[in-house]
Amino acid sequence: MSKTVKNLIDKLNIQKTLSPDEYHTLVNEFDKDDLSYAKELAVGIRKSVYGTSVFIRGLIEITNYCKNGCLYCGINRANKNCSRYRLSKEEILSCCEYGYELGFRTFVMQGGEDNHFTDEVVCDIVSEIKSRYPDCAVTLSLGERSYESYKALYDSGADRYLLRHETADSEHYSKLHPSDLTLENRMECLYNLKRIGFQTGCGIMVGSPYQTSVHIAKDLKFIEEFDPQMCGIGPFLPHKDTVFADFDKGSFDLTLFLLSIIRIMKPRILLPSTTALGTLREGGREMGILHGANVIMPNLSPETAKDKYMLYDNKLRTGLESAKALESLKKQISSIGYNIVTDRGDYKRN
Ligand code: SAM
Repeated sequence: MSKTVKNLIDKLNIQKTLSPDEYHTLVNEFDKDDLSYAKELAVGIRKSVYGTSVFIRGLIEITNYCKNGCLYCGINRANKNCSRYRLSKEEILSCCEYGYELGFRTFVMQGGEDNHFTDEVVCDIVSEIKSRYPDCAVTLSLGERSYESYKALYDSGADRYLLRHETADSEHYSKLHPSDLTLENRMECLYNLKRIGFQTGCGIMVGSPYQTSVHIAKDLKFIEEFDPQMCGIGPFLPHKDTVFADFDKGSFDLTLFLLSIIRIMKPRILLPSTTALGTLREGGREMGILHGANVIMPNLSPETAKDKYMLYDNKLRTGLESAKALESLKKQISSIGYNIVTDRGDYKRN
């Protein structure tokens, strides 16, 4: 174990802040023993705040139409092989009905940036979900919108918003996106969401093309300062119809290490163990939970939509990601010492 890395993990645990150089050392120099050390600390912290509860979110992939050209993403506008769909209000509501019976108390509506989903359309769906299920939270993940739009969504009852910042380095951002998308706007969106009152989530893909350890250090510093309520950290996985088809997948160990580091930095954060982590390696999502994550997002989308919402190749489809297999997911989670709860699973403010 590197003494420097261990000392930095201890320092982060006590002070909850490191310099970008120190974050860089962590990311650049950690080894297997450091990973175990960070894991033990993260697990202890997470148990002291959230016990052994694992919160589940019912993911509803409402559309794969997207006006954006994010170079890494399988549903980007340029992919002519992507068969497009969008769910109707009735289809979304029936996903919620099914999910509610299974015990879901958060519904996440995620999708590409689809002009069909105007404020009027989304607000109508959100307020209907909230009136049918007042004990549930609604999370949105619909990309970049104006302040006024976010405010309207919030006023219609949405509780949380996920918008990964993708990278905190603008040069790196420009290698992942076409020039009409800027880090400046992404960040402005994130600050607006927080200002409006959403429980807000940022995050990155680990191992995205051209990412370096300096970039990840910047991301950690941004997460520290932005102080989000949620953070989505998952490995980059290539999609065959994108320009990054031949790039390597993100590292499993680095993803786990970052989950632990973020838990140590932000004890109360809601930290998903992502589908991408489960896709990268069998049992990956359980490993994420064992490294400090406390949220899993099983897929409630209709079967036809699941096949078409392909952000990357071979998206996990083993059954355990499906809500139908919730019972077996529950067993699996309890076999590693945790338990899936029927709860909104809000951010604990104190
Ligand atoms: N359009 C919304 C947005 O931009 O935030 C939400 C949908 S977007 C598809 C959700 C997330 O998927 C992105 O933030 C990105 O990090 C992730 N993603 C896209 N392509 C990916 C890939 N090839 N590997 C791993 N994650 C990917």
